[in-house]
Amino acid sequence: MSKFFNSKYAKLTPYTPGEQPQDMQYTKLNTNESPFPVSAKAVKYVSEAAEKLQLYPDPECRQLTQKIADYYGVGFENVLLTNGSDEILNFAFMAFCEKGAAFPDITYGFYSVFAELNGVEYTEFPLNDDFTVKLDDYINTDKTVFIANPNAPTGIALKLEEIEKILRSKPNRLVIVDEAYVDFGADSAVNLTKKYDNLLVIHTFSKSRSLAGGRLGYGIGNKDLICDLNTIKYSTNPYNINRLSAAAGLGMIEDDEYVRENCQKIIDNRTYTEKKLAELGFTFTNSLANFIFAKHPLVSGKEIYLELKKRGVLVRHFDKERLTEYNRITVGTKEQMDILVKTLKEILEEKI
Ligand code: PMP
Repeated sequence: MSKFFNSKYAKLTPYTPGEQPQDMQYTKLNTNESPFPVSAKAVKYVSEAAEKLQLYPDPECRQLTQKIADYYGVGFENVLLTNGSDEILNFAFMAFCEKGAAFPDITYGFYSVFAELNGVEYTEFPLNDDFTVKLDDYINTDKTVFIANPNAPTGIALKLEEIEKILRSKPNRLVIVDEAYVDFGADSAVNLTKKYDNLLVIHTFSKSRSLAGGRLGYGIGNKDLICDLNTIKYSTNPYNINRLSAAAGLGMIEDDEYVRENCQKIIDNRTYTEKKLAELGFTFTNSLANFIFAKHPLVSGKEIYLELKKRGVLVRHFDKERLTEYNRITVGTKEQMDILVKTLKEILEEKI
């Protein structure tokens, strides 16, 4: 730490992103990216946009914002695009957490980091032993609620009725539903934003829309919420969406059929892999996301992670209580999943 670092950040533990190793070619199943490339249309739009890179992008990102609004049947004023959904999550912690924030003890690790960064006091409600959410915790709190639905790294989703129960219980308390993984089988709360002004739904282009490298996310909610978030955006980074990413995003929204086909492939590969993992003795949560959260009764999670890595397969292991026995395995192509299963079989044969 330099002598110039602001003391208020001295104790901050930053978020640790999943490994992006450069040392060898891994079967990369550790950061929930899509295994499918962006569409040809997205590539074409990006190359056209590249010819205008000498100009700043549209700070309102009008074309893509309108496309997203039309796609979900909401107004332009109900949508805000950001540099990955991480950015809008940070904005939400800055904008809406004067009374504190509440989220599960096991969830997306960035929530607590954003809370710390912004000096937001937060409560982590313990999940049940089976990793399901205790609904009453969220119904009863006055703090701004952050719920990843499906949750990460468990993949377990709440039903819309349950989200609605939380929303209805305290109309003056904001609920932020992070739907990063919603396109792989869970129900989206986007339509509820038309009914509840205390709901902000957050989406990303990083998973189902193959754009993790493009950094695009967005929020959908009541226009006053979006207006507040814009105040934060224009006070930090008005040009938060670069031309190339906006162009790629446009292509991926227009090529929705391709996106839906890819989601279905991931869902099918998830079912296929779960069956294979069960045959090897693994158990896992009921994931509706593009990952499987699995553990083996005889070999520790850490050992499986390290052995897989040695053999060129990368999964995500969390050194956190209640999670250490598990690995989060991104669902990729059928070929990638076959490599995973074959490698796991070899490991188990050696270890057991
Ligand atoms: N929310 C959840 C639950 C996530 O797992 C992730 C991805 N790590 C994000 C948000 C952020 O995604 P991005 O910034 O790529 O949009």
